[in-house]
Amino acid sequence: MKQQEIMLNTLHNQEMRMNELNEIELDELGNDHVSSATETPMRECAFILSEELKIKKIEGYFREIMETLGLNLNDDSLSGTPHRVAKMYVKEIFNGLNPANKPSVKLFDNKYQYNQMLVERDITFYSNCEHHFVPFFGKAHIAYISSGKVIGLSKLNRIVNYYAKRPQVQERLTMQIAKELKNALNTEDVAVVIEARHLCVSSRGIKDDSSSTITSFYGGKFNEEQLKTEFLNYLNLKSNY
Ligand SMILES: [Zn+2]
Repeated sequence: MKQQEIMLNTLHNQEMRMNELNEIELDELGNDHVSSATETPMRECAFILSEELKIKKIEGYFREIMETLGLNLNDDSLSGTPHRVAKMYVKEIFNGLNPANKPSVKLFDNKYQYNQMLVERDITFYSNCEHHFVPFFGKAHIAYISSGKVIGLSKLNRIVNYYAKRPQVQERLTMQIAKELKNALNTEDVAVVIEARHLCVSSRGIKDDSSSTITSFYGGKFNEEQLKTEFLNYLNLKSNY
């Protein structure tokens, strides 16, 4: 073999090993659900295409995925799936990627001078794991202490759902909700606890269908042991409603 060929072969083998390694490392990163940033990593050109054009493009890509898997798209049951999936991605389950869909937050004066914590617990959310694009879902529990303004209760649900409707990791979802509440309510005194089931853990991979994942954020006064305990006690209260 000529010198050059040997070199090329060696390089090729090295590259193959690197690719293999990367794939293993990337798989582990995904399966371990390591998040790398608090902000959702977005491309600069994220909103150049209209929603209609995004749906059209995704529809084409999804058709290819299905066909590559060997499915016959002429079948009545399958023929509409690429369009349905594309529309669902853009308009529903990932519409929290678009800042235009961020709920506007109206604040009210704290007329009753209520200065204790307000807790809204058991806010149902559905999100999708950004490593596998399968659902994780559960309950978010939120608390804040008013700094003079209060927020409509349903806005808390809307904030949770806006950030849930992205490819997500639970840690980032928790941080993004907390950050939004701190900004909106102009206070550090917010707490967020999220408990979720991840289908990428239960329906595939390790196939554990009994574990749930809990993440939390405690800001300002919620770092004081007494307030944290009070908040957590409310979460454990049995609901009669
Ligand atoms: Zn996952």
